[in-house]
Amino acid sequence: MGIPITKPFFDEEELRKVKEVLDSGWVTQGPVTAEFENIFSQYQDCQYAVAVSSCTAALHLALLALGIGKGDEVIVPAFTWITSASCVEYVGADVKFVDIEKESMNIDVSMIEPAITERTKAIIAVHLFGNPAKMDEIMAIAEKYHLYVIEDCACAIGTAYKGRKVGTTGKIGCFSFHPRKTITTGEGGMCVTNDKQLYNRLQQLRNHGASVTKRTAEYKKPYYMGVYDEVGYNLRLSDIQAAVGVAQFGKLPMLLNDRRRCAAYYLKKLSGIRALIVPDDRVHIGHTYQAFVVLLRSGDRNKRNAIMDAMASAGIQSRPGTIAITRTEFNRKKYNLDYGQFPVAEYCEDSSITLPIYLHMSMEDMDKVVDIMIRNI
Ligand SMILES: *Cc1c(COP(=O)(O)O)cnc(C)c1O
Repeated sequence: MGIPITKPFFDEEELRKVKEVLDSGWVTQGPVTAEFENIFSQYQDCQYAVAVSSCTAALHLALLALGIGKGDEVIVPAFTWITSASCVEYVGADVKFVDIEKESMNIDVSMIEPAITERTKAIIAVHLFGNPAKMDEIMAIAEKYHLYVIEDCACAIGTAYKGRKVGTTGKIGCFSFHPRKTITTGEGGMCVTNDKQLYNRLQQLRNHGASVTKRTAEYKKPYYMGVYDEVGYNLRLSDIQAAVGVAQFGKLPMLLNDRRRCAAYYLKKLSGIRALIVPDDRVHIGHTYQAFVVLLRSGDRNKRNAIMDAMASAGIQSRPGTIAITRTEFNRKKYNLDYGQFPVAEYCEDSSITLPIYLHMSMEDMDKVVDIMIRNI
């Protein structure tokens, strides 16, 4: 048995809750999705939560709900999951990439202002790997230029910035329940907001464009079919998935605590190694370690790959942190980008390794990971 990069944790609770849904016969966007949304908004200490089929769907809906579209520009960090930028393409807008800082692997706030043009409408603030982005600086710029802030919290359930959970500082926060994330529903996502109008728009767009405010006199009659004043989507979450989400939520404190335990152990073992840059836990307060990512200081991609190959040979799964999205063929063509334009993002793509982290990971297994890394550095 090898060591996987992650391991979702399920028990009887998920089974029991899913069985309840199956037995009830109401299996999509019904009472259990509403229950999941309620639990989520309470946890986030916000007014509204809208469950959707993925974080990608959540980001797409967020941009639609804010009315961002053709001719608009949206600022996105150059090092993130590809979706943080794809959602901008879905609505016909253009991405404006901004490089990141090596220390946090989040957007370099000093580079946001120079990237703003008269077309800029929003900033997508990504809390990468569960590490909070510098929201004070981002919000100050957004206020100065009247921009919306959307928080990509895909990795960041439980993450706090200056003591406050991320997701509701900007207009809309978007979460993921993909199996690589801290809690999972297989696939799934959530939008959070404190704005009633946005809440209505998110609900309408998620559900085929059926208005939640406009109704005809036939409302509640058997022949009422809704009012459709714009084109919508089907981006709903099923109650089967929501049932898993409700059960997972009960485990969230345990899952978060155990990730911190694993991260602390890795940090103890790896902090003294000159060849590596590890997350600095004195600076990164509020980090929830959805992923524990180290950088090879030299930035040598071949060397990084050799380490990952050695880990694979020893049965240890690893992944790069994420990608420099400025290097994808699509973005290079559309935006006329060249290698070298986003040096920190490219450095992080070349040099990052995500180490295995999951609930109840043993110290022996973490030692194995550490040993194989040290021997191959
Ligand atoms: C995982 C991830 C997403 C996408 O989430 P899905 O639920 O898989 O669509 C978006 N942004 C970031 C930063 C992610 O890590």
